[in-house]
Amino acid sequence: MKNKKVKDRIAQGRIQELNAISSSNEDMNYRRNAIILMENIAKRMDISLKKNIKRNYCKNCKRPYGDCSRVRLKKNCVIVTCLECGDIRRFRYRP
Ligand SMILES: [Zn+2]
Repeated sequence: MKNKKVKDRIAQGRIQELNAISSSNEDMNYRRNAIILMENIAKRMDISLKKNIKRNYCKNCKRPYGDCSRVRLKKNCVIVTCLECGDIRRFRYRP
């Protein structure tokens, strides 16, 4: 049995690949599937996705942000609205 470090490295590599797919120009369903897979791997391997990956898609409908999101800034906060399902997420940032 492989130890956790090796497994983690494989999982991270896989996540990187899937992240590249999710931000490519592929079919939307394909990209969405990549995101779902990515989440499943992270869950199973008990690792958390990096911030830059997590903030790239809607947690509710798993659709990658970009053409279907609205971004607004308000008081040290980035507010991202998913135009597909209406889900709103807020991220703090330091000016
Ligand atoms: Zn959504």
